[in-house]
Amino acid sequence: MTEPISCLCGSKRSIPIKPRERFEIPIAFAICLRCGHIYAKNILNQRALDDFYSSKLYRSLYGGLSVQEHVDKLNFPEKTETALWRIAKPFLPEKNGAVLEWGSSGGWNLIPFRDFGHSVLGLDVNVSYLEAGRKTYGLDLEIIDESTFKALEQRQFDLIILNHVLEHLTEPQELLRKLARSSSPNTIYLIGLPTIEAIKDYGFHNYFTVAHIHYFSKFSFESALNRSGFSLIETHRTHGGLTFVAKLSDSSNKSSGFRGVLYALLVVAFHYTKYKIRRIARILFELTGIYRIFRK
Ligand SMILES: [Zn+2]
Repeated sequence: MTEPISCLCGSKRSIPIKPRERFEIPIAFAICLRCGHIYAKNILNQRALDDFYSSKLYRSLYGGLSVQEHVDKLNFPEKTETALWRIAKPFLPEKNGAVLEWGSSGGWNLIPFRDFGHSVLGLDVNVSYLEAGRKTYGLDLEIIDESTFKALEQRQFDLIILNHVLEHLTEPQELLRKLARSSSPNTIYLIGLPTIEAIKDYGFHNYFTVAHIHYFSKFSFESALNRSGFSLIETHRTHGGLTFVAKLSDSSNKSSGFRGVLYALLVVAFHYTKYKIRRIARILFELTGIYRIFRK
């Protein structure tokens, strides 16, 4: 049902932090001892993943909305300055910039970019979302297939958006390296991730999910960027994690692994302790309630 994987830095040495994910599926999570990256040590194989994505549980995670209802709900009024738009704006030309979103789903992130005068292209693997997005927002949205990278190499983009995409991939660094071929040294990357800085938004137990393989921190993601030939420009706190601004780099930066390991250990220890204290408090509260009932 599951297959083992190594850390993105290539190391297999790690400290286990959680034996199961939030729905009790036996996927174990660990901190890499070389770079401090947190990742799923084993991932569901293709068959198990297909079963999960077609299950009632998966659909219930999205509140039971149909694809069209989801796309309608996320439509932005004209010229809405979204968080992603505000981060990207200083890096784009005034008008006619070329923007690509990899993993665009229905394309809602691209609406402000189109409204403020840029050409936009969204790519995804989910046909239903692409169709609903084209029909509802009138955006240029295309399916990702074997010919996609070849086609992208013929084009240059001012901005490439990867919003909550890399955490789902077994090999996120491979996607970055492939996209780098459609980039100039001036291409800006906007990369949103549910980093461990956001554990407090989800809670320690709920943060670790079968849907995500990688749990970057601000340090471990900078290391992954450097290994893929990129350098970090800015980091922003956004909904559900951090958004990184990066570009291609010709120097090979080496970030310190020790700093990343120490940081990940402290963040995990803090949130794990908070989670345990809350559980104990809840049990004590319930026991007090039972005691009161018996005393009556
Ligand atoms: Zn590592």
